[in-house]
Amino acid sequence: MKSFIVIGLGRFGSAAAQELYEMGHEVIVVDRNEEAVNHLANRSTHAAIGDARELEVLRAVGAGECQCAIVAIGEDLAASVLITMNLKDLGCRQIICKAQNEMYKRALERVGADRVLIPEREMALRLARSLGSRSFLDYMEFSDEYAIAEFEVPKSWVGKSLKSLNVRTKHQVSILAIRSQDGKQTRMSPGGDDCIEKGDTIMVMGKNQNLQRLQRL
Ligand code: ATP
Repeated sequence: MKSFIVIGLGRFGSAAAQELYEMGHEVIVVDRNEEAVNHLANRSTHAAIGDARELEVLRAVGAGECQCAIVAIGEDLAASVLITMNLKDLGCRQIICKAQNEMYKRALERVGADRVLIPEREMALRLARSLGSRSFLDYMEFSDEYAIAEFEVPKSWVGKSLKSLNVRTKHQVSILAIRSQDGKQTRMSPGGDDCIEKGDTIMVMGKNQNLQRLQRL
């Protein structure tokens, strides 16, 4: 079980808080809007009404003891910046912020956010990559640089072992799992002797450009 604090209970913050709570984690939620807080009162460990720009508000709910904070405020960049700085000062170990655009993202990283998401942009990229490429079935950004993609194996790989394909060195990606065409068999963390069969789907992790290159084989 991990402890989270979610600040800002709009669509993004409340969905994240609820999901984390349902997964069995400790979740503190804070919003200055009473209605938003009441909505999550029974779906969080502790729900508090307050202006999270105030250091004392964050201290009082125990923000500094949380393992991870999610700052989910959209428009008000100044508020997100102040809250991130306060969370940092209180010793919060990981701070994830939502941002509206690249400029907001840069500002939040500058004041110490560990990860900044631009949700609309990330969803759009993910959708475009999975719809627009020949073979990606799913595509999940892991960080700005790395992603995990799922796609059908290139035809030229069929019948060959991972060792003989030299995937890590040649393509600079790691194969996390191989699933058979009928979906009945999944090989997790496959080794060099594992062989690719016709119709197999692979889950691969690597740099974005290496994944794009791989699916063009
Ligand atoms: P979403 O797209 O997730 O619905 P949004 O991007 O439109 O949200 P906002 O509506 O600006 O974001 O803010 C989200 C929530 O954050 C709101 O419920 C708002 O009351 C709350 N909020 C904004 N500023 C503060 C603050 N200083 N302290 C506490 N809560 C705040």
